[in-house]
Amino acid sequence: MHCPLCGSIDTGKVGTEQYYCWNCLHEFAMQGQEGFTAYYVDEEGTLVSLNELAQDGQAVEENLLG
Ligand SMILES: [Zn+2]
Repeated sequence: MHCPLCGSIDTGKVGTEQYYCWNCLHEFAMQGQEGFTAYYVDEEGTLVSLNELAQDGQAVEENLLG
């Protein structure tokens, strides 16, 4: 399973159609062939949806870089 955000193969399954990427430290849920919802896990372990940003990969990368 490749991470849809960074393309890393270093992912682990955490639930039904849900995966965690150890490279970019995001959790994502697959939705159909190409769709996905990505989540950023903040310091308190809260999942923050990146759904809006995920529609623009560049925005996600900028967000990751802070
Ligand atoms: Zn990733």
